[in-house]
Amino acid sequence: MFLEPNFKGQRSGWIEVICGSMFSGKTEELIRRLKRARIANQKVEIFKPQLDKRYDEKKVVSHDANSIKAIPIEHSSILLELTENISVVGIDEAQFFDEQLPEICQALALKGKRIIVAGLDMDFRGRPFGPMPALLAVAEYITKVHAICPHCGNLATHSYRLTEEDDTVLLGEKDRYEPRCRTCYHMGNILNFHVKKQTDKAKT
Ligand code: ZN
Repeated sequence: MFLEPNFKGQRSGWIEVICGSMFSGKTEELIRRLKRARIANQKVEIFKPQLDKRYDEKKVVSHDANSIKAIPIEHSSILLELTENISVVGIDEAQFFDEQLPEICQALALKGKRIIVAGLDMDFRGRPFGPMPALLAVAEYITKVHAICPHCGNLATHSYRLTEEDDTVLLGEKDRYEPRCRTCYHMGNILNFHVKKQTDKAKT
């Protein structure tokens, strides 16, 4: 489990990244760290991209409803103004932010702030997601959390899309995604490919 480093006299802050597939407990881990920072009397604020409207506009809501209020913002650059008096900055659903987020996080860390970023490391195609790979490269601390694959019981690292929609950004819940291990994720894709080919053939 991640324990907060205690560097006496350290001049700069640092960046922590919590990543993993859907339903892996990223937001729960973000909330856990922020609540501990609050107990330590640190000023905490949480931000999320404006487009995540799945739940309450002003809340980071994890899947077990353990929630903390969050501020929806349109672009990462506004963080420079909004975090003036805040020492611990939480960022949820970081994969949906603009490409400038890693640069902004580094600027904030240099100002002495602790930045905790949570996000999906891969999209449903299994590709690195938005600004996440760059954030992982510049972070001091990385935690990869895992879900459990419901097909075989192994650790799940991939987010398998259960529907046929093609957009990379498709918000949704358990009816649209399923965490899967590498093998079950690829088996599902192969199966889908063949089913699609068959139905296309049947159409012609
Ligand atoms: Zn599996």
